[in-house]
Formats: sequence, structure tokens, C-alpha cells
Amino acid sequence: MRPERTVDVLIVGAGPAGLAAAAGLAAAGVGRVEVLEREERAGGVPRHCHHGGFGARTFAGLTGPGTSGPRYARARVDAALRAGASVRTGVTATGWAGPLTLDTTSPRGLERLTARAVVLATGARERPRAARLVPGSRAAGVYTTGELQQAVHLYGQHIGTRAVVVGAEPVAYAALDTLRRAGVEVAAQVTAESRHRATPWRAAESRLRYGVPLLTGAAVTELVGRGRVSAVGVRHRTGLLAQLSCDTVVFTGDFVPDHELARRGGVSLAPGTRGPAIDADFRTDIPGVFAVGNVAHAVEPAGAVAAEGWRAAVSVRRYLLSGRWPSVVRGV
Ligand SMILES: Cc1cc2nc3c(=O)[nH]c(=O)nc-3n(C[C@H](O)[C@H](O)[C@H](O)COP(=O)(O)OP(=O)(O)OC[C@H]3O[C@@H](n4cnc5c(N)ncnc54)[C@H](O)[C@@H]3O)c2cc1C
Repeated sequence: MRPERTVDVLIVGAGPAGLAAAAGLAAAGVGRVEVLEREERAGGVPRHCHHGGFGARTFAGLTGPGTSGPRYARARVDAALRAGASVRTGVTATGWAGPLTLDTTSPRGLERLTARAVVLATGARERPRAARLVPGSRAAGVYTTGELQQAVHLYGQHIGTRAVVVGAEPVAYAALDTLRRAGVEVAAQVTAESRHRATPWRAAESRLRYGVPLLTGAAVTELVGRGRVSAVGVRHRTGLLAQLSCDTVVFTGDFVPDHELARRGGVSLAPGTRGPAIDADFRTDIPGVFAVGNVAHAVEPAGAVAAEGWRAAVSVRRYLLSGRWPSVVRGV
């Protein structure tokens, strides 16, 4: 038997989107607003992004430096708590027991929570190696950027000595920063595209200052090694094959919405994003269930998803007051 409780609004995910929605709703006095976060610390992805650039503002075409991810995450958590929301960490929403009832699990036990409205803010994650269909052994030493950052910045784990980074989007350059901080040499950055997708100065800094070669038009075709990765097989679009020796491989970018909970609840997904289909008011096709942040679209800057969270709070409050839900939600 699970203990059962009711709250007014239940928010799943304490990243920038969920925390902003929580702050907005609690400040508006809608009643008990509870945020569930499966990690031990709230804040979402910025918790483990030690670079700056979070919450940066643009003025007259110039963008400021922003702040570090952990500092940004703490500020978002503090704002939600100050507004009166309750943020519970180490609690995972595992499934649905009714349209607005979620089952949870945590080290303290199982629980069943019913709300007047549910906000899904579960974010997005990078596609892991298995889903990218790279053949080869199941050797250790293979990460996504998120896994790498958590291992280095949250748990201080030893990573390896020589890495290959797959991808050339901004997130790949964040992975290079983390590898540098962990003292790992980078053998090469490999991308199937014809050029990098980062700012010119970021790409130039990586090549010229840190000496990281960027191999364009090349795909990683194989992971080699028993127990631990010892090399990656690379195929250039001209057909040339090569092996790069390394003990660490980081797959970057290629984000997919963390839609598992939405799917289990029968929420329709948008074919384009594979996240919950929502209308302009963040409503899904299940009355009372909203979705906000990266779960509903491609990865956006933290400030942009936090702004969505505030707007979603207005929609949720309007629904709590009116009880109205349109019969057709765009994209479904
Ligand atoms: C490597 C990297 C670098 C970045 N750098 C920048 C930058 O410099 N500047 C910038 O503005 N943005 C940056 N971003 C983007 C920014 O971090 C994200 O857009 C933002 O964190 C998305 O917020 P979110 O709330 O939608 O999701 P997330 O931050 O992903 O938060 C979702 C939360 O939901 C929790 N969760 C998921 N499922 C459950 C469940 N079933 N039960 C309980 N909890 C659950 C997760 O644990 C997670 O904490 C970066 C992103 C990455 C990956």
C-alpha cells in the first residue's frame, strides 16, 4: 500500500523550466505546489555545467557572460523555495495511477500523489551510444556530455587519459572544457558535418589554443577494445578508414526529449519533436496535464526555458481558476 496525498500542482522535474513554473505558481498563491526531482540536488542540467553563459542577457546585439551553471541552478531553486513551493529531491515519478495521479519512489518509500494540475518538465537527454547504433564492444569509457559532466563535476571521478569527442555543436565544446578540467588529452573531435556548429571564436580557440584537431565529414563507425575502449574506427566521406587510439569517447548533442513519463500517461507526442504535443498555453491533450521546457522541444538556453516556465505558470493558474480545457490541442 502506498501512502496517498493531494497537492494543488505537481511539477515533475526541477530544472530551470519546472522551477520557474513552481516559483510563478507559488507566488500566485494557487495552493500547495510541489516539485519532484529524481536527482539528489535540484537545478537540472545547469547543476553540472561548470562553464558560464547561463542566464546571459543580450543588449544592443551583445550578449553578456552570464553566470556558471551551478550558480544559476541554485538561484532558480532559491527563487522557487522563496515563493513557497516545496522541492523534493531524490523522488522519481514512475507512472500514473489516474489522469492526474502519479506514483513515486524514493529512498524514503513509495507514494501516490494526486494534483489538480500536473506539469511535466522532465527535460531532454543526449542519445546514448547504443541508440546511435555504433557497433563494437561494450567497453567502459564511453560517455555522453551529461554523463561526463556529472562524473567530473559532481562525483570527481577519474575519466581517462586520451579522448575522442563525437560532435561539433556548442555542447561538444562544453565537453572539451570538462575533459580539459579532468586532465584528459583530446585526440580529435569528429563530426559527420562539413563544419562545426559553434561560434567561430569557440572553434578557433579549441583548434589553435588547445590544439584539438576537428575531423569533418567523418563518422565514428566502431568502438574497439575489451574491458575499456582502446580506439575508435572512423570513416571519412571519401571512403578513407582510420583508427584513433583513445581510452575515452564522448558522444555529444543529439538530444531527445525525456518523454517516458508523458508516454506512460497516454499523452500524445508531437511527431517532429517526439516530446508531448502542446498548444501555445503548454496544454497537452490530457486535461490538467501541461508540459514545459526541453521535454517539449529541442534544447534551448536555460533562460529561454525558464521564461517558458513563467508563462506556463500563468496558463496553469488560469486553468485552475476556470477548469476549461480546449478539446483540440495543436499538433495532436
Ligand atoms: C552540456 C550542456 C551545456 C549547456 N550550456 C548552456 C549554457 O551555457 N547556457 C544556457 O543558457 N543553457 C545551456 N544549456 C541548456 C540548458 O541547460 C537546458 O536547456 C535547460 O537545463 C533545460 O531545462 P529543463 O528544465 O527543460 O530540463 P532539465 O534541466 O533537463 O531538467 C529536467 C529535470 O527533470 C528531472 N526528471 C526527469 N524525469 C523525472 C522523473 N520521472 N521524476 C523526477 N524527476 C525527473 C531530471 O532529473 C532533471 O533534473 C546546456 C545544456 C547542456 C546539456
